Order: sequence, then structure tokens, then C-alpha cells
Amino acid sequence: MAPVYEIFSSWQGEGLFAGRKQIFVRFSGCNLDCSYCDEPASVQKAASLTPLSAVEKIKKLSKEEGTRFVSFTGGEPLLYADFIKAVIPGLGPGFSFFLETNGSLPGELKKVISGIGVVSMDMKLPFFCGKALWLEHRKFLKLAADKAYVKIVVSPRAPLGEFERAVKIIAGISRDIPLFIQPESSGFLKIKRGAPVFGPYKKFYEAAALRLGDVSLLPQLHKIWGAK
Ligand code: SF4
Repeated sequence: MAPVYEIFSSWQGEGLFAGRKQIFVRFSGCNLDCSYCDEPASVQKAASLTPLSAVEKIKKLSKEEGTRFVSFTGGEPLLYADFIKAVIPGLGPGFSFFLETNGSLPGELKKVISGIGVVSMDMKLPFFCGKALWLEHRKFLKLAADKAYVKIVVSPRAPLGEFERAVKIIAGISRDIPLFIQPESSGFLKIKRGAPVFGPYKKFYEAAALRLGDVSLLPQLHKIWGAK
């Protein structure tokens, strides 16, 4: 059993698969407390679901919505790694699995990594999450390297030194791992039309491009589209 906040279909609005239709399995609860978090599921409790009920709901939505791309998200989905491990074989071949995670629980990632196709890993700057997770992030990315891309949320005031430290960790594992620099939405969406929107974030792009071969600056598109 796991607290599943919602299962729904929408458009992926972040990272490498932005614009793809997915079925989202959103768990409630998170082991972190980021200052920019606007996800109610991170704190609100949800009813517990069995893996079998989740599989039935996903299959039904998959038929209705015409997608077999399933994203485990949260909150932090790896708090429920055993549940995910049971859902994947329950759906069987033909489905592909995407994990959206804060990248802080490498021990839990080990339980599910063989069944996951793509890992969307956040690296958290201490400026936002109140603690340093460098060791956890390094271990996590080493385990996921061949199927991961990394996302780092920044604001104009985020310390460049912290950002550079995260970039060095990625580069130390592989300079080919794609990095998405994501402007924090509450600030980004307030930028007036016609202003040079990427101006305050350019320094992060330039610092990353010095060490990595695949860097993008991309806001959360679902917030701009008004999608869930
Ligand atoms: S890791 Fe994600 S869900 Fe958890 S507090 Fe941070 S932004 Fe919110």
C-alpha cells in the first residue's frame, strides 16, 4: 500500500520529454522541504492504494488517453519504492516508466532502477532546501547515469557557487548527461512581457556550458500552458 494522491493524464511540462502525454502517478509525502515547493502532494495526506488498484486505474486511463508512458512523481516517489516495484510488472510489457525524483535516496533507487526507462533527477541547491545533499546526489547519479537527465531549479538570487558545485558533480560522472536549468516558476512567471526573460539566468547557463555538453534553459511549460 502507498498514499497515492492522484493518478491522471496530462502533458509533461519539464525536461527532456516536455510535450509528451503521460499518465502521472503522484504520491503524497516528501523527505525534503524546498522553499519554492508549490506541490500540495508534498504535505497533504492521501488515501492508501494497493499496487493492484493502481495498475487497474493506470490501464483504464491508458486506454482512454492513448498513452503507455507512466510517470512516478510526487512528493517523492522513492519513499514508495516497494510499491513502484510491484506496479511495474503488474502493467507488463508495452508500458515505459519515468521517475521524477529529488535524487536524494540512492538506496531506494537501487530497488527500482532496472524497471525504469528514464530518470528525471533533481539536484537541490542548499539555498533552497536548507541542507547539502552533495554526497547523496553523487551516489544517486552514478546509479542512474545511463538513463538520467538532471534538473536544477534556480532563481536570480541562487548562489552561483552552489550551482557550480552541482555541475561539477554531473561533469565528474559524465559530461554527456543532459542538464536542464529550470527558473523557479513563481519568479519567472512574474517577468513582464517584452523583458529579456532569460537575462537573470544566463550566468547559470554559461557556467554549466563550460563543463557539460548538453545544457538547456527551460521553464516549467505546464505552468505557462495552464496544464496540471
Ligand atoms: S523535493 Fe519536490 S516535492 Fe519535495 S519539497 Fe522539494 S519541490 Fe516539493
